[in-house]
Amino acid sequence: MMDTTPQDGMRHCGAVSPLRGRLTRAVMHPATLLVLVAVLLGAPAVSSTATIQILAFALVSTIFAQSLLVLTGLAGQISLGHAAFFGMGAYGSALLTKTLGLSLLLSIPAATVAGALAAYLLSFPAGRVREVYLAMMTLGFGQIFFEVAREWTSLTGGVSGFSGIPSASLRTLSVLGMNLDEGDFFRVLVVVAAGVLIFVRNLSQSRFGRALCAIHHSEYAAGSVGIARGRARQFAYAISGGLAGLAGVFYAHLVGYIGPDSFGISRSVEVLVISIVGGLLSSAGQVVSAVFFAFLPERLQAFAEYQYIVYGLILAFSLIVLPKGLGGLLFSPPRFVRPRALRDAGRRHAEGARPLPVEEGAESLSVRDVTMRFGGLTALDSVSLEIRAGHITGLVGPNGSGKSTLVNVISGIYKPTGGTIALGSRDVTGLADYQMASHGVVRTFQDPRLIPHFTVRENLMLGAHRSLGYGWIEAALALPGARAAEVRELERCNAILALLELEGIADAVVESLPYGHRRMAELGRMLLAEPRILMLDEPAAGLTDVEMVRLATVITRLKGMGLSLLLIEHHMDFLASLVDDVVVLDSGRIIYRGDMKGMRENAEVIGAYLGDEAAGHA
Ligand code: ADP
Ligand code: MG
Repeated sequence: MMDTTPQDGMRHCGAVSPLRGRLTRAVMHPATLLVLVAVLLGAPAVSSTATIQILAFALVSTIFAQSLLVLTGLAGQISLGHAAFFGMGAYGSALLTKTLGLSLLLSIPAATVAGALAAYLLSFPAGRVREVYLAMMTLGFGQIFFEVAREWTSLTGGVSGFSGIPSASLRTLSVLGMNLDEGDFFRVLVVVAAGVLIFVRNLSQSRFGRALCAIHHSEYAAGSVGIARGRARQFAYAISGGLAGLAGVFYAHLVGYIGPDSFGISRSVEVLVISIVGGLLSSAGQVVSAVFFAFLPERLQAFAEYQYIVYGLILAFSLIVLPKGLGGLLFSPPRFVRPRALRDAGRRHAEGARPLPVEEGAESLSVRDVTMRFGGLTALDSVSLEIRAGHITGLVGPNGSGKSTLVNVISGIYKPTGGTIALGSRDVTGLADYQMASHGVVRTFQDPRLIPHFTVRENLMLGAHRSLGYGWIEAALALPGARAAEVRELERCNAILALLELEGIADAVVESLPYGHRRMAELGRMLLAEPRILMLDEPAAGLTDVEMVRLATVITRLKGMGLSLLLIEHHMDFLASLVDDVVVLDSGRIIYRGDMKGMRENAEVIGAYLGDEAAGHA
């Protein structure tokens, strides 16, 4: 029973130790963080200038590393050219403040937007390639920036660099008429870095963070809940480029002098090393790592020319010994739902436990003469069928007969070679999977596709991606609208967890769970996606008898709510207890349609499938 839907890789992470849990709660406690910020704000009064300078570099690296947390940690996009966005921020602010004499208050947003815009533009070619090719493309992009910075002498000062950038150490940096000393500048940096950490945390724990994890771990799962992958990727690039640009602004005004060598490949590698050693998904780990790497060069002064060799060794060591970095060692794994929202929702169920509003009445879906060819193989040969509103249509047939392919075609993963698909009276042939999902055409996969490091609840919340609906600024600032929407959907999630009897494992990380639970969790996710047409690809495979009974109850309830269901199953008794009619596929052709009783007596079906099944399952 092979799943022929194209595979997208899954990754794994381990369990949480209680000690790490306690440390994380202590460190992440708002009071601890406030004390930490207060200590840092007071530091310039008591520390040496040299220490403050190093801490300032650590904060710049922290902001820079957060940009990779978003792009690589969340969205899974590799970049070896991030120094370019950092450089755009640095040169941008240098030009605006020194050459044009503008205020830092203007140059900060302007340079951040420049980084974001450049990264957004890069996302279009980058979105077309993957992995090694993406690494090469970003590397090339970084190199182009480096060359431009070196050759465009009139703008950047070329190899001799850009000097005299307003900086606190030279007392040439003023904001609103106030001249900033190094302590003041450091305090500004503390506030900005804290803001960036909160911004990224809020985003991670919103529909955006979850969507980026989804496109990272399973593109098809993302599409199945209505996430437009391309747009999500562009968003990740823009946010990441903006944060890198912001880090670059502070770097420029911290050092007062920039040259192309500050923005070459070694800078891109350095920030990648800091992020990976800290833990690609761990903000707290990245802070620790940034501080470590800021103080390291001083300790390594004896072998300054070997600095990058030492970095390389640390990276190799970290990848082998700490695959999740310092963050994974010290803190519990990051979560993707706000703890506050979770508390607010509590165990409350959505109004009247109405998990599935079938809006504006039910609809049926009709497939007309659909043909699907893969090269020389005809997987579907002029298939027509109707998934009627309020009915359960069974779809059976031997392995390889085209059942999953039909679901893949209807759900928009494949564009059919011929034929049409209509939802009600609307022609939806050839729409992409995320567009079909947004029309309420929703499916589960033969092999459940969940985000392995998400909890069951977080996976379900992925299904609420569309209905959550709030924008990224609301998410990043945790505005009341976004928070209320999260609580509302968490309550709906509670209702569905109860319906599927998954409450006991709601907060368990999915990869630690047995197969049956994963199947039910995926079903839960699709229910949160507000289906009107629901297609289940062998949902009972791997379930225990108890789970199968529960599944049957749920399917009956869904039918009662007016949903249109397509059910692929090999368990004949399970099917017989549920379906209204059944369609039998053999080698891509429909050989029977009608009721179960007739099917069991049909000679062609017995020859092609049931005889086979009886032998296979005896
Ligand atoms: P079923 O779900 O009924 O077991 P499938 O729909 O998975 O069968 O497969 C039907 C046929 O189509 C099989 O021969 C399978 O190998 C082929 N097939 C499915 N997807 C692809 C694909 N992406 N590329 C090539 N062949 C495919
Ligand atoms: Mg199949």
